[in-house]
Amino acid sequence: MSRFLDPRYAALEPYTPGEQPRGRKFIKLNTNESPYPPSPKVIEAISRAEVEDLRLYSDPTANDLVRAIAEFYGLEKDQVVTGNGSDEILAFAFLAFCGQKGAAFPAISYGFYPVFAELFGVRARAVPLNADFTIDIAPYLVPGENVVIANPNAPTGLALELDQIETILRAHPDDVVLIDEAYVDFGARSAVGLLPKYDNLLIVQTFSKSRALAGGRIGFALGNPALIADLSAMKYSFNPYNLGRLPLLAGAASMRDVGYFRACTGRIIATRERTAKALKALGCAMTDSLANFLFVRLPGVAGGRAQQRLRDKGILVRWFDRAPIRDYLRVTVGSEEEMAAFVQAVEEIIREEAQ
Ligand SMILES: *Cc1c(COP(=O)(O)O)cnc(C)c1O
Repeated sequence: MSRFLDPRYAALEPYTPGEQPRGRKFIKLNTNESPYPPSPKVIEAISRAEVEDLRLYSDPTANDLVRAIAEFYGLEKDQVVTGNGSDEILAFAFLAFCGQKGAAFPAISYGFYPVFAELFGVRARAVPLNADFTIDIAPYLVPGENVVIANPNAPTGLALELDQIETILRAHPDDVVLIDEAYVDFGARSAVGLLPKYDNLLIVQTFSKSRALAGGRIGFALGNPALIADLSAMKYSFNPYNLGRLPLLAGAASMRDVGYFRACTGRIIATRERTAKALKALGCAMTDSLANFLFVRLPGVAGGRAQQRLRDKGILVRWFDRAPIRDYLRVTVGSEEEMAAFVQAVEEIIREEAQ
């Protein structure tokens, strides 16, 4: 820390991203990226002429990308705002809505929520999960406070039912209920259909996982036009050109290639189910994940140890060194071949560690 840092941030604990290895080749199952490339339409969209146009600023309204997103969900354009990854959208939402009221979110969830709360001086209430890692909605029914829930939740992959989300929305007529749907395309139900009924619902999504564009940094929010206008005001007060020209093109092309999107997410879901079955046969415990990752405990191997042993075998997974999830690994669903290698490595580790 320099002597110049505002003391307000002295205790800030930044978010720790998963490792992005250089050099050695790993099977990379640690940051929930897609094992498949983006839609071929994305590559077609990035022409030489578009690269030459990088001398010009990008469209601050993200008009064509917003249109593509609105068309996909059957919404109006004023119900959509885009961001530099959904992380930026989440930051705008904490900034715009949470200062007075604070926010409640699960104690085990996306690691950025407490970081944003700290950064923006937002009062955060971390609500413990049930023993089986499911979310009990009762503690979220207190009006006067905003609610932030990842659905499916991270890193458990467990999803709430839409009627549970609706119960939370009804308890909070004057607060924002933010549903982070980063993983919703892998089998959970989106709350998009609730938008006409609830002007306090804000849905946040990303192109990073189900659309294989993590490096493109494209996220978006869906909600009532007034909520979206507030987020847009944050964007124009911070960085109007928050998406570059190439990500804008990539995002729109990807959103319009519905067939490719469904094929990729379908494959990942099928691989997830096959992998889960194979791991259960080895005695692993896991949640019923509806995301593009599995949340797994190896029998007789502590979480940190399991992560290290996998790393030694050339496989990266995510481990969170905190109760009550310390013995679990979050394992991204990769390609069939990658997951076969993972299952084999797990089988070896369980056998070796038992000796
Ligand atoms: C990955 C992830 C995000 C962030 O996605 P980006 O769009 O890449 O910034 C947000 N929320 C959750 C729950 C995530 O897992």
